[in-house]
Amino acid sequence: MAYDLLIRGGRVVDGSGLPSYVADVAVKDGKVAEIGKIKDGATKTIDAGGLAVSPGFIDHHTHLDAQMLWDPYGTCEPQHGITSVVMGNCGLSLAPVRQGIEDAVVKSFVRVEAIPRKALEQGVKWNWRSYGDYLDNFEGKLGINVGGLVGHIAVRHHAMGEEAVERKATGAEVQKMRGLVLEAMEGGALGMSTNRNDRHMREDGKPVASRLADDDELFALCDVLAERNAGVIETILGRNKIEHFKWYHELAKRTQRPILWQSLQHRWAEPNLWREQLDAVEPIFKAGYQAYGLSMTVPLVRHFTLKDCQVFDEFPTWKNLMFLPVEVRKQAFADADTRKKMLAELTSSRETNYHKRWDIPKVERVANAENQKYVGKTLAELATMRNQAPLDAFLDLSLEENLETIFWNANNGGDSKAMGEILRSPYVLVGTSDAGAHVLFGADFGYGTILLGLWVRERQVMTLEQAVHKLTFHPASIFGLQDRGLLRPGYAADMAIFDPKTINAEEPEWANDYPAGSKRMVQRSVGLHYTIVNGTVINDQGHMTGELPGQVMRGPLYRQQKAAA
Ligand SMILES: [Zn+2]
Repeated sequence: MAYDLLIRGGRVVDGSGLPSYVADVAVKDGKVAEIGKIKDGATKTIDAGGLAVSPGFIDHHTHLDAQMLWDPYGTCEPQHGITSVVMGNCGLSLAPVRQGIEDAVVKSFVRVEAIPRKALEQGVKWNWRSYGDYLDNFEGKLGINVGGLVGHIAVRHHAMGEEAVERKATGAEVQKMRGLVLEAMEGGALGMSTNRNDRHMREDGKPVASRLADDDELFALCDVLAERNAGVIETILGRNKIEHFKWYHELAKRTQRPILWQSLQHRWAEPNLWREQLDAVEPIFKAGYQAYGLSMTVPLVRHFTLKDCQVFDEFPTWKNLMFLPVEVRKQAFADADTRKKMLAELTSSRETNYHKRWDIPKVERVANAENQKYVGKTLAELATMRNQAPLDAFLDLSLEENLETIFWNANNGGDSKAMGEILRSPYVLVGTSDAGAHVLFGADFGYGTILLGLWVRERQVMTLEQAVHKLTFHPASIFGLQDRGLLRPGYAADMAIFDPKTINAEEPEWANDYPAGSKRMVQRSVGLHYTIVNGTVINDQGHMTGELPGQVMRGPLYRQQKAAA
């Protein structure tokens, strides 16, 4: 039998978490046909000697709802080995819609997900009404596989119009919303998402619609999934408090559906919160219910100079100083009274994202050769070396170098030990790339390549097999993505072929590839050789082939309906 594609001699990391092994992988009709020592030939052969061959990665937390309409690859997902994406997270989806509410949905996307309005206006044509119609739009036009959750915000606007951002829903409106959720699920949604983050507003400053839903409404909608035994429930409540876990427990028990909550991170400002969260979620799993915490792999690192710096924007004096002309700012930095005010803000007990510690920020690069000895030192170490208080040492070094000293700071994800425990936890689902969102502020398409490069190779917090499992079969199982996430005969031939010795992500960079000439940030990878979707190569060593083998991944209720028809 001649195969369509044969991948020779790679190390198969099959997504199960089991030890990897050297084998050939044969593909026929878009599926994995055979794995092992394969004699038959194929139309196309890839030599994968020295490379890992794994299932394609699944980015389950994206906001590519709009971008996929104009970019069949969801660039830069395949560049990082991602073959399947889930849209519709955080309460936001572009369906269902009815005439007149399109702009309410756009207003929410523009602000919460920071997608340029002109890109949405030019790129989204609104030629759909139901969630199923929306998914139909993608049939035959995809480079990667796409599935989606139905967002509470669109559902609420559909039922209530603009009043969705003003008041509680009536019983009749809740019934209407339940009907819309069911219709979306039967149209192929993989579940439902909601948003209660009190910082999430629309462009006009009004809260996003789902924030006005009380528990009765939200539970009534989630009950639709429970009654039909289908789909995941994705939530964002904002800063996670320990009391939220009672609510997750109640929802998980009531629906017996997988609940996803955001998020679990190591933050220097609250260095033990992640452990309290893991301790709080454990009883839910022990009781037999599922409430997975989402966690990011990308440390929130900033490189800054005091010439151009947003690291201290939470502190009013610091922020004001950063807006002064550089020469005036330098005089202020040298002024003793100003320093007193700066220090007072840094030592106040007010809760901030900035950790207010001197033993974390480091000197990364100096401008003057005689200061070379300070490179790599924390500001606390710098203070000791210079026999000064930390703030004085920080500002004086910077002033001596005309504010050109480059400093390094991490607010999140900086502690390897904590990150290892978080990423390895069975209760944690890795990934909140937010791909397609916040496009002017960053690009985290590479959360998977960073997991494999930084956390597996460099920091060795888990094995390659465990990491691949976290990127593939783990999300596929939770989201009910049939026949994906494992390399086994009969499974979809979605694959990433990469070099474990070099795999990583580059720093994000600017691009001009959004509609209406809007700018955004993109991210390249290193060491990712091929991305294969349903048996077809779409990324050949960094070159996109133009092939469109992607499929719409529809959920269980759609499949049941189709089977019954
Ligand atoms: Zn999100």
